[in-house]
Amino acid sequence: MKNNFSNIIANDELCSYFAKAIEFSSLSHAYILLGAKGTGKHTLARLVSAALSCENKDDENASLPCLECNNCQKIMNGISPDVIYVSREEDKATLGVESIRFIKDDVAFFPNDSDFKIYIIEDAHTMTAQAQNAFLLTLEEPPKYAIFILLCEHTENILETIKSRAPILRMKTPQRDEAVEFLKSNYPSVRTFINNSPNEFEQIYLASGGSIGRILDLINSSEKKQILQNRELAQKLIESIAHNRLSSDFAEISTMFSQKRDEREKIVAQLSEIQGAIRDLITIKKSDEPRLIFFTDAKYTEELSYSFSVKKLIQIAESTEKARLALLRNANIKLTVINYLSELI
Ligand SMILES: [Zn+2]
Repeated sequence: MKNNFSNIIANDELCSYFAKAIEFSSLSHAYILLGAKGTGKHTLARLVSAALSCENKDDENASLPCLECNNCQKIMNGISPDVIYVSREEDKATLGVESIRFIKDDVAFFPNDSDFKIYIIEDAHTMTAQAQNAFLLTLEEPPKYAIFILLCEHTENILETIKSRAPILRMKTPQRDEAVEFLKSNYPSVRTFINNSPNEFEQIYLASGGSIGRILDLINSSEKKQILQNRELAQKLIESIAHNRLSSDFAEISTMFSQKRDEREKIVAQLSEIQGAIRDLITIKKSDEPRLIFFTDAKYTEELSYSFSVKKLIQIAESTEKARLALLRNANIKLTVINYLSELI
């Protein structure tokens, strides 16, 4: 049977893993889908749910999921009673025990349309310890029809007892060319953006960490402008240090940093971009095949790197991290910026 996990790129192995597990009924009761924001965790979880409930599952000639039967349509449109999304309340940073207690009660009811009831737990990495312990009780003796898919950006806080019952499956991000090809063929507006503003696109691509969902979010959001400004600042600062011009550029560069009281997060993001640029310069000195995360032009980056010793780059990285941590600890914004830039001269 042909697996039909369309709209998922760079994760063929993962898709065939699920297709086989469904075909041979060898699914685990729980999975951890691990990947950065926008790597396709939701889409894959939804497609796996559709494949499990597809009415044409036993037809060897059909694709799985067929995406046409009633069950597939309901699941893809997010209206199936058998696919339940469990998410954080909007104003909360963690997924609390109340949401998990809901699962414990709800799972006792049989599925409506198919043989499975699938719980997609969003932002599962934010589950509190109490929530995880409550979840464990359900996971220890789940009904035959229950499948839990935990969507996680990292697994640092996930209890070992959950990890041992839920295989961790990592979502991969596509290579740059593969991502561009995919975006161009699936999103006409993005194709136009790539064609009209190739340089902006490259910057957005790098800022997204290669994640398709993140690229789509950024292209259409007001965050795009901020990211481009942050990157411009980082590049200007690095070039200014490289050409020994920081003393004369000091006033201009210091005003490019966010200075307002409520812009602490913005300035932390600006420092993170600078760290990305420094990381690229060190990588290009040390590696034969560097994968750049900040600069868009490898030749230019290599030339720029000649102006720095590795020791100097490490010093800049350390000063940047020191300033970032100071801001996270509530230090005065203006003073931190001035101290930081003075250290770099
Ligand atoms: Zn179907």
